[in-house]
Amino acid sequence: MTRQVPNFVNGEHHFSQSSRIADIHNPATGDIIAQVALSSASEINHIVSHSLKAQLSWREQSPLKRARVMFKFKELLEHNTKELATLISQEHGKTHSDAKGELTRGIEVVEFACGIPHLLKGEFSSHVGTGVDSFSMMQPLGVCVGITPFNFPAMVPLWMYPIALCCGNSFILKPSEKAPSASIKMAELLQQAGLPDGVFQVVHGDKEIVDALLSHPDIAAVSFVGSTPVAKTIYQKGCAEGKRVQALGGAKNHLLVMPDADLQRVGNALMAAAYGATGERCMAISVAVVVGDKTADALIEHLAPRVESLKVGPGLAQPENDMGPLISEAHLLKVRGYIEQGAKEGAELVVDGRELESETGYFLGGTLFDHVTPNMRIYREEIFGPVLAVVRVESYEQGLALINGHEFANGTAIFTQNGHWAHHFYQHVEVGMVGINVPIPVPMAFHSFGGWKRSIFGPLNMHGPDGVRFYTRMKTVTSSWPQDLNLDTQYSMPTME
Ligand code: NAD
Repeated sequence: MTRQVPNFVNGEHHFSQSSRIADIHNPATGDIIAQVALSSASEINHIVSHSLKAQLSWREQSPLKRARVMFKFKELLEHNTKELATLISQEHGKTHSDAKGELTRGIEVVEFACGIPHLLKGEFSSHVGTGVDSFSMMQPLGVCVGITPFNFPAMVPLWMYPIALCCGNSFILKPSEKAPSASIKMAELLQQAGLPDGVFQVVHGDKEIVDALLSHPDIAAVSFVGSTPVAKTIYQKGCAEGKRVQALGGAKNHLLVMPDADLQRVGNALMAAAYGATGERCMAISVAVVVGDKTADALIEHLAPRVESLKVGPGLAQPENDMGPLISEAHLLKVRGYIEQGAKEGAELVVDGRELESETGYFLGGTLFDHVTPNMRIYREEIFGPVLAVVRVESYEQGLALINGHEFANGTAIFTQNGHWAHHFYQHVEVGMVGINVPIPVPMAFHSFGGWKRSIFGPLNMHGPDGVRFYTRMKTVTSSWPQDLNLDTQYSMPTME
């Protein structure tokens, strides 16, 4: 019988009675390996009621106690990395080392959240001589929701809930229905770490359950990561319902190659950033903007044989492969369609990944286009596959203007040996995350992650200090006490529990 992925409600596996079922495929074979019920809107009141009740006592635990649960959770994540990475590789298709890599990045956020006693210290000012003191406290919001994409089944949820929980909120995770199993394992580990039942719950589903969450009056905040059209809709609906919303969307990341850049270093960077994880990363580089024909010719000559010799195959069964499959047949057809479109629109197809032969699974070879121009669809739209477009420009200024003209602005990078260009670039580029000789400038967990323009909706980024700001609200107290304190009064110090 096919494995059924349950919801996780009030500390227990719970099988939705919904008749709408989604198959979960192994993208390396195309086989159905599990199924998940797409929960219906009628189930939401029951789930939210547990979150509400659990949050009332969880918020009363001291930040120190909440951090202790996170310390234990970190240990358990490390202990269970192999099992979690296997679940991720099976359902997503990424190589085992990529799956372990996303867990490492996620664990970094857990480590950051362990510092919550310090992060929630607030602010204090004393008006000496007046008896008036002012202080601000950061208090939890209540029940928070996370809606996450398929491409990082563990890391993106981990951007959200460790901080939300440590701030004293309860959390309902609605992971991608394409790769849902890692979430259930993480819920089990949180329970093992001592998190009270109901504080963290997982509900599977699609638009129906998301809409029910967005309109539920007891949901205080919604964090979303996914494609731009859905991010925009979630932001608009959530805000219209009076909720706090942060919604991260799609990307089209450019890497600007200056003529003085070390081409070997640029080549290594592009191979990892354009083709790693089969291009299914929101921080993947999908456009190389090259200054000067001489540099562009040399780069193409360097890249073409490397792209042709990428090892493509099952990421779990053959961990030595560079690239696993794409997530689904539909996505494979979409990416192949973009390659066809690019060639039709006049870009030069230097390496055609469609030539890869594979009898099973959703595999596509690495693809390289040269002479791509800004009016082409393969330049304008997010492809989310192993396709790199080279755009030739004549100057640094033209390259910068191109990047600043794009509607997406998640990440970007410049490769140069010249400090002047590097400095000018990070000062003037209109993109949220910037790399200098670093192709994928993902911030460390103690900074915040987020793009600009149509790569994000809402003012606050994810994790780091913005994560703490998002999952708390400030309360400011102004107090005045008589100054003639009776010093004979006996005080006993409370313990820090
Ligand atoms: P998606 O937008 O299709 O789905 C994301 C989540 O939203 C899933 O949980 C899905 O079930 C839900 N959803 C889908 N359609 C919905 C609808 N109409 N109404 C309500 N909910 C809906 O994204 P995906 O295909 O899972 O992930 C890939 C996308 O995510 C890419 O665009 C990628 O750039 C983006 N992404 C962005 C970041 C970032 O940090 N900016 C990180 C990872 C992925």
